[in-house]
Amino acid sequence: MKKSLKERLAILSDAAKYDASCASSGTSSRNSLQSGGLGSTEGSGICHAYAPDGRCISLLKILLTNFCIYDCAYCINRSSSNVERARFTPDEVVWLTLEFYRRNYIEGLFLSSGIIRSSDHTMEEMVKIAKDLRTIHHFRGYIHLKTIPEASAHLIEQAGLYADRLSINIELPTDHGIARYAPEKRPDNIRRSMGELRLKMEEMAEPTLQTKRRQNSCRQVRARR
Ligand code: SF4
Repeated sequence: MKKSLKERLAILSDAAKYDASCASSGTSSRNSLQSGGLGSTEGSGICHAYAPDGRCISLLKILLTNFCIYDCAYCINRSSSNVERARFTPDEVVWLTLEFYRRNYIEGLFLSSGIIRSSDHTMEEMVKIAKDLRTIHHFRGYIHLKTIPEASAHLIEQAGLYADRLSINIELPTDHGIARYAPEKRPDNIRRSMGELRLKMEEMAEPTLQTKRRQNSCRQVRARR
């Protein structure tokens, strides 16, 4: 039987809590339902982040899906894991974001995902969500997308047009570690994505002395060829 939207929201907000992305993720676990009193540090679904102007904002923090074709040993959502699975459509994520925003529960969206079908297919769906929020619904709230490591540069660029923040997981500190624990991932591709992201950010940013020097030396190298 197909899970209801509420059931999928419970699964996919809980699954997103492992993405340590936000200001409220580093504390011990306390829950007043078991110990009495008021409040809890265990809830999932809404997290906090800092906007560029220093404000602390609330974000709906969810995965598009916790299905994944990869089998990274350290990840609860790996293909061999026995967790309950769920998936949203892009339209459902758009609807949830708008409805939570209208009710004043959140000021933005943090979206990550397991990899379904391919990196590009997953990234395309994430871009569609951000694009529809911005261009169809004129959503002016905050959007943070966790990019898919091996998605093509064109899709990462598209994501940058609609999101306030893009980030990417480097997974493990050494190539040897990735080969051992996340064998389907290619460290070269992760570095390529991060490098392309940095170049795009530099391209769009106000030029600094350092970027001007780098651009000049690139031009000189090209002129010598
Ligand atoms: S690709 Fe991401 S979601 Fe999939 S198993 Fe690896 S870390 Fe988990």
